[in-house]
Amino acid sequence: MFDGISLDKLKEECGVIGIYHQKNIDVSKMVYYGLYALQHRGQESAGIATNDGIRTHQHKAMGRVAEIFTDEIFRKLVGNVGIGHVRYSTTGESYVGNAQPLTVFYRRGSIAVAHNGNLINADLIRNKLEDDGVVFQTTIDTEVIVNLIARYSGDGIENAIKRTMGLVKGSYALVVMTENQLIGVRDPLGLRPLCLGKLEDGYVLASESCALDILGAEFVRDIEPGEIVTINQNGVSSKKVNGVSKRASCIFEYVYFARPDSIIDGVSVYEARKNAGKLLGKEHPVDADLVIAVPDTSIPAAIGYAQVSGIPSEEGLIKNRYVGRTFIQPDQSSREMAVRLKLNPLKSVVTGKRIILIDDSIVRGTTSKKIVTNLKEAGATEVHMRVSSPPVAHSCYYGIDTPNRKSLIASSQSVEDICREIGADSLGYLSTDRLVESTGLGNEHFCLACFNGDYPIDVEKSKCSRSFNRLKT
Ligand code: AMP
Ligand code: SF4
Repeated sequence: MFDGISLDKLKEECGVIGIYHQKNIDVSKMVYYGLYALQHRGQESAGIATNDGIRTHQHKAMGRVAEIFTDEIFRKLVGNVGIGHVRYSTTGESYVGNAQPLTVFYRRGSIAVAHNGNLINADLIRNKLEDDGVVFQTTIDTEVIVNLIARYSGDGIENAIKRTMGLVKGSYALVVMTENQLIGVRDPLGLRPLCLGKLEDGYVLASESCALDILGAEFVRDIEPGEIVTINQNGVSSKKVNGVSKRASCIFEYVYFARPDSIIDGVSVYEARKNAGKLLGKEHPVDADLVIAVPDTSIPAAIGYAQVSGIPSEEGLIKNRYVGRTFIQPDQSSREMAVRLKLNPLKSVVTGKRIILIDDSIVRGTTSKKIVTNLKEAGATEVHMRVSSPPVAHSCYYGIDTPNRKSLIASSQSVEDICREIGADSLGYLSTDRLVESTGLGNEHFCLACFNGDYPIDVEKSKCSRSFNRLKT
């Protein structure tokens, strides 16, 4: 339905964290450790903003968390409230000016925001605001959110967030920091995850529960779709926006994006992946000697597949952990080189063997094609590719970086064609129903649009909404 839409626009895959400490201690190091745990959600830039009750302090830079923050920087990041962000964008707009958190100073003080997600009507709102004379300093959607919150803050920050949520369309998990409070917001569909944890004298909000574990925080609960959670000296309070009717949490968090030690919306990512592998083994059995995972995301699925099939699982591909993510290399030849650098077959394991190769997804097909070729060159006699999710045939508009639809191999090719293209002896994908089953939740819980094209928010309609006349009030 959206084939004609250009996807060259910047898309975000990010991780957010916020900490409110009720004692007067600096939280910046805790935010840092939380970001460390969320590094897989974005490796391009990172930032921390803190507030000491009077002033906002912040530092952000390109690179990974461990490379950015030094003791000297921590000494400046004072305050008992802090938020942090890791970011991963596609090519083009990758510069430090677009790093987060974003802080604005307005007549009532300062607001800092860190955002995971993607607004599909940001351009429309931005144009309206620019018509009103607003000047933007970045090209990211988050600046639209910050501007709207500041604009409406006369009615109090929570009401400002509510009004902003009435205007923006798309996915967002936000942590918002003011001088004296920390606020967490999840979009009305619950597309992106956000959870709440309890420290001895404070609270943590984070994209994934693995960040709470690092901080020794006790998991309290997931933030509900459309919920605004406010944390201050009085503790935690919650409000819901109106009009939350359906839910559409991103199922790709379980497939690929989240860390396996996280629990999202009550479901262990590891168990979901392992279940997906078991169900894949039942849907697409094949006679072979070894089950091999494409490390790391597919390891739980390979364990599940091996368990139901009774075929032993071995480490057959060694991952070079110092290579960045192949997915975001700008051109095809550098993507292919990156796969070669990243994954090397273990000849002693694969030679003379019929391999079942498990991956969590096929997107462009680059990775699978290269790995199948490499395994065969290393001596594998057969390679049967099994994928623990359905064919990715549609682009994501809600914050997961998928390429242009025509670059998605499953958008134009049948399973048989893809099998031939990647050079496998057979190919089997997990069905959409079984993927949902692997989580133990129902269809109604999820966005499945990249698999079935059923988008929970109509991208075209959102781009021409009439509600923007309200911006001036
Ligand atoms: P491709 O080579 O384009 O088919 O990419 C498939 C590989 O990329 C699989 O091994 C996945 O684990 C990984 N992958 C899937 N989705 C993403 C994503 N959104 N960002 C980065 N890597 C991904
Ligand atoms: Fe997640 Fe796919 Fe929906 Fe995007 S389209 S939010 S990747 S399920």
